[in-house]
Amino acid sequence: MSARILIVDDVAANRIVQQARLSAAFYDPILAADGATCLAIAREERPDLVLLDLDLPDMSGLEVLRILRRDPRCRDIPVIALTSTSAPAERLAAFGAGADDVMDRPANERVLLARLRNLLRLKAESDFPAPDDPAMAGLAEAPALFEPQGTVALVAPLSALADGLSSALAEQLRDRLVVLSRREALAELSADLDRESLPEVFILQDDGRNPSATLRLLSELKSHQATRHAAVCVVGPAGEGDEAAMAFDLGADDAVGPAVTAQELALRTRGLLRRKRHSDQRRARMQDGLRLAMLDPLTGLYNRRFAAPQLAAIAARARAEGTEFAVMVMDLDRFKQVNDLHGHAAGDQVLVEVAHRLSANLRVTDVLARIGGEEFLAILPDSCASNARRVAERLCHAVDDDPIRLHSGEELHITVSIGVAVAGGEGDAGFSVDRLVEQADLALLDSKGAGRNQVTYRLSA
Ligand code: GH3
Ligand code: MG
Ligand code: MG
Repeated sequence: MSARILIVDDVAANRIVQQARLSAAFYDPILAADGATCLAIAREERPDLVLLDLDLPDMSGLEVLRILRRDPRCRDIPVIALTSTSAPAERLAAFGAGADDVMDRPANERVLLARLRNLLRLKAESDFPAPDDPAMAGLAEAPALFEPQGTVALVAPLSALADGLSSALAEQLRDRLVVLSRREALAELSADLDRESLPEVFILQDDGRNPSATLRLLSELKSHQATRHAAVCVVGPAGEGDEAAMAFDLGADDAVGPAVTAQELALRTRGLLRRKRHSDQRRARMQDGLRLAMLDPLTGLYNRRFAAPQLAAIAARARAEGTEFAVMVMDLDRFKQVNDLHGHAAGDQVLVEVAHRLSANLRVTDVLARIGGEEFLAILPDSCASNARRVAERLCHAVDDDPIRLHSGEELHITVSIGVAVAGGEGDAGFSVDRLVEQADLALLDSKGAGRNQVTYRLSA
């Protein structure tokens, strides 16, 4: 579906020109001639982006911006404000009211379209809800009460050039400002990822002599592991005109010409920092969500849901390569008694310690999962029957040999029963994974029936 762009302009001719340009670029334009209509459409139709003329007949464009930013339904819609005055004060006011960018009329069409793509891409990234995003539970995101100081790097081709901007910028920013040469900025690419002082925003100052060197540095920063999530802003001749369009397409988060004031640059930088932190948080939540979807929170082992596709993958590989693999089902013996006699918390401690002992006795290529309360599954790729049996014996001993010491100081003697089955190998490409697991389950029952704390092996056929 093409992105819907709300064009707000009181001059019909302007609306029609923009509409034609955006349609030609395969966007879906919506038109509004005044502030009230803009607000109504923004709330009802939630466009993907708003192109807002700041000079409107019924209310000021700044007022429209402020209302949009206060409304949870419209707060995240990117807004590009268009001004015809190019007065620095009006630009600052528009940034202050929440504009994502402010452009002078007539806007360079290529830059406008590149900026549009850039903002739409950022919006698409932040629209995708993380698994435990509060927004998914219908809760609005709590605004940050306190924004910690950030690290901003100003990168200049010449130190003399940096000096003027850095002192003006340092006065406006509350963040730590470091001045780097291009060579030093490139050294950040191989920086230690956990290093605290890694810049969160890079401001690339261009002196107009070699804009392609500035753009090359931008794309280096955007493609390296250590710096790819940092925000990058291009300032100077490479930040306007065709170079700006190229900068946005190379992944710049912002680009602005040489006439920018330090005050406006500071406001833009603050906005970049805020947006970067927001997306860092989302990424972290996403990773946590993925991790939680795979892992058992008590033992840190894989859960049953993760084990099933792993088993299928190992089986497929064994089938393709003609190798054998083993499945083990393990169940703690008389575990209910542990809970009954020592309490559930003690039972949990036992589960954690058993998980630890089992994984310490398996290879990194083996998959170990907790598939039920006190039941574990191990999948051993490239494992023949005699090896699997030997490993299972080792696991049995690892649990049985030493008592498990509880936090209370009490020691418990715990044992485990294991059922093993093996499939694959030459002449057994037609095995069934379900049947293999069934055989391991039956073998486990045999171990229980034979007195527990032992290993039983069954052929899968
Ligand atoms: P058997 O030797 O036949 O396996 O006997 P058992 O007592 O181990 O078997 P049973 O299936 O009767 O009991 C399993 C117990 O495991 C019952 C349940 O309360 C306990 N359990 C399951 N999940 C957890 C858990 O996460 N923490 C704790 N502490 N106990 C759990
Ligand atoms: Mg049990
Ligand atoms: Mg059980």
